[in-house]
Amino acid sequence: MNKLTIKDVNIKGKRIFISGDFNVPLDKENHIADDSRIRAVLPTINYCLDEGAKVILASHMGRPKGEYKPELSLGIVGRRLERLLHKKIAFVNDCIGDRVKQAVDAMRCGDVVLLENLRFHKEETENDDNFSKQLAGLADIYVNDAFATAHRCHASNVGITKHIHYSVAGFLMINEIKYFERAMESPVRPLAAILGGAKVSSKIGVIENLLTRVDKVIIGGGMTFTFLKALGYEVGKSLVEDDMLETASRIITLAKENKVKFYLPVDCVVADKFDARAETKKVPIQEIPKEWIALDIGPASITLFAQALENAKTIIWNGPMGVFEMDAFSRGTMAMVNIVSSSYALTIVGGGDTDVAVHRAGESYKISYISTGGGAFLQLLEGKALPGLTALTDKGK
Ligand code: AMP
Repeated sequence: MNKLTIKDVNIKGKRIFISGDFNVPLDKENHIADDSRIRAVLPTINYCLDEGAKVILASHMGRPKGEYKPELSLGIVGRRLERLLHKKIAFVNDCIGDRVKQAVDAMRCGDVVLLENLRFHKEETENDDNFSKQLAGLADIYVNDAFATAHRCHASNVGITKHIHYSVAGFLMINEIKYFERAMESPVRPLAAILGGAKVSSKIGVIENLLTRVDKVIIGGGMTFTFLKALGYEVGKSLVEDDMLETASRIITLAKENKVKFYLPVDCVVADKFDARAETKKVPIQEIPKEWIALDIGPASITLFAQALENAKTIIWNGPMGVFEMDAFSRGTMAMVNIVSSSYALTIVGGGDTDVAVHRAGESYKISYISTGGGAFLQLLEGKALPGLTALTDKGK
């Protein structure tokens, strides 16, 4: 990574503006359902505190679309941070303006101020220059540790960097990029990519880019059936994107041309309706009944994929193998978690659903790296730059 990191700058006694992703999932009673996103930023916050800096924290939560929405206030995050850091945090109920300035002016070294949800101002997502300037005015150094929003071009991750001298990567950002580069730029081969999820259309850029870099691609999930239909199979009522059939054929040809081994499921679990209580059976892909829907990969595919991954030295995985939200169709995804987590390869998993599956299986600790980004991770896999990363100060400046 050719960007300055938090280790490259002297932060002692300075006001440090840290962009984090505190967009935590909330349950029905508005309690934090999972605080991993907050925990992911702790190394950066703790480092700043250890170095005697003044820490200003900013994040978005949900999509308030420029309006104040009490249920999306970051107050709840502030309370959790106090427990995690074992210290008092000053929560200000805005992210710009006089009250924020006063709170920041009153800070002493080792203090933490948490700003209110950035997206209560529409200027945040519009990357408004004046708003960016006001955020920048609060601090001496900007630290981006919000990998999950790095594919966005917003005021708090792009605009702000134009008005502050040093914009550097925090430890979470450094880790995300380091693992990604290890996997994609200088991988120990064979490098295998596992792609699942619903649609070909949403991952077409990723597949095309991967076909120029990886040794093997394994396809699962709903997108399987567009490929199978393109190959002439009967897929019943399974999810198919008819406008992607040509693309799917082109991808299969491209894989051959690039000498990438391309694996599709050889069997699947079919259901008579899209329902957790549906009648189900396992069939080879040649025998998908006309009126049935394929909702998971079958046991033979699991064996095939396990064999294909046996010699892999690097594995990247995004997207579930089936409708894993329903128990009856979660076997394929859970089996894939087992295969990946017991592999001796460097294993990198990204995307919300895949992350959930790995945690649900209790296997997260066996994965080399679980990315905190969904969209940002996919954008990297597509071979595209992340605006939030590009905006940081180049090394040597
Ligand atoms: P994505 O956001 O593209 O990664 O897609 C994730 C979604 O794909 C999950 O909610 C799964 O339920 C869904 N999915 C996986 N396999 C299938 C399938 N065979 N048919 C329909 N949806 C699927």
